[in-house]
Amino acid sequence: MRPLQMVDTKTQYHKIKAEVDAAVLGVMESSTFIGGKVVTDFAEHLAAYNGVKHVVPCANGTDALQIAMMALDLQPGDEVITPSFTYIATVEAAAILKLQPVFVEVDPKTFCMDPVAVEQAITSRTRAIVPVHLYGHAADMEPIMEIARRHNLYVIEDNAQGIGCDYLFSDGTVKKTGGIGHIGCTSFYPSKNLGAFGDGGAIFTNDDALVAKLRMIAAHGQSKRYYHDVVGCNSRLDAVQAAILDIKLRHLDEYIAARQKAADYYDQAFLNHEKIEIPFRSPNCKHVFHQYTLTLKNDPADERNRDGLNQFLADKGIPSMIYYPVPCHKQKMFESLGGSSFNLPVTDWLTERVISLPIHTELDEEQQNFIIKNILEYIN
Ligand SMILES: *Cc1c(COP(=O)(O)O)cnc(C)c1O
Repeated sequence: MRPLQMVDTKTQYHKIKAEVDAAVLGVMESSTFIGGKVVTDFAEHLAAYNGVKHVVPCANGTDALQIAMMALDLQPGDEVITPSFTYIATVEAAAILKLQPVFVEVDPKTFCMDPVAVEQAITSRTRAIVPVHLYGHAADMEPIMEIARRHNLYVIEDNAQGIGCDYLFSDGTVKKTGGIGHIGCTSFYPSKNLGAFGDGGAIFTNDDALVAKLRMIAAHGQSKRYYHDVVGCNSRLDAVQAAILDIKLRHLDEYIAARQKAADYYDQAFLNHEKIEIPFRSPNCKHVFHQYTLTLKNDPADERNRDGLNQFLADKGIPSMIYYPVPCHKQKMFESLGGSSFNLPVTDWLTERVISLPIHTELDEEQQNFIIKNILEYIN
């Protein structure tokens, strides 16, 4: 059996090595390392893929979120509604700008922001909602957009884990996540579904006025060379990454299909198990399985619990991960912002019970059988 990894970027690379190597060498020969046609071509291709008008490439997903919040002119003290059950970057971007994070509960099935909780959290200071398409499952965007419209709020999608996910509206319209809110943000961190060979990120929008502002902020607030209108930052996707991503984008749907196939195989093994909840798939979205995350029904105080399984698997050479062991509202970082004042029982409940298994484009059935056998051995 091939060794097990959470993600296998090396085998994935070897399958497209000739194409990737030629593209990287092409950038070297051109010596245009920052900006240039390779970057703008990739941005255009990604916009077409995602069904959005504009893509602004940037240095990473965290920058994408920060630039989005800056472009919307959010001011210190403005409230931003986010889930606590997410990667720290979602909320950190707000905190850097001295915005006030308002943590809301997630739906225990989808792991994504609960629209009812969002509406209850709105105050006169609320300016934006930041849904996260966690693990590759879409947040419920239709009610979130409807709430935002009614309260005149911006929606910034954190699509770092959701790229390629289709979301179905009740009128039959299908849109890709990242292209539904006012701004969408994504990451090309190597382990993401569309991963670079280094850092990278992008910002999506359909708004012609906003895109100019996003571009300006990502480039030192510059309107034309050496004329700086607003305080911005320096956030660029380099040409080597863009060249690689342009090739990987052509394979993205096939990568998603491979992840879904692996998820189906896990599902069959754990379906109807009294102690294991398989990932929920809402009929209004196409889960892209950035993570395959089980919820163990066992109480953390039980002899056989989630942390025990994590260790048991590690001892067998099977990696598994807890995304995330501490929810944002309980992170030290947010203590001074009142993080601990939030009471989020669903988030806490999930935090103690979720476990993510290896899932990637190169997983084979022999590997999955070994993982499944060991999980069932521990849990049964
Ligand atoms: C990866 C990730 C980010 C940040 O992306 P970077 O490129 O690492 O800065 C933001 N939000 C979520 C949900 C992520 O998974």
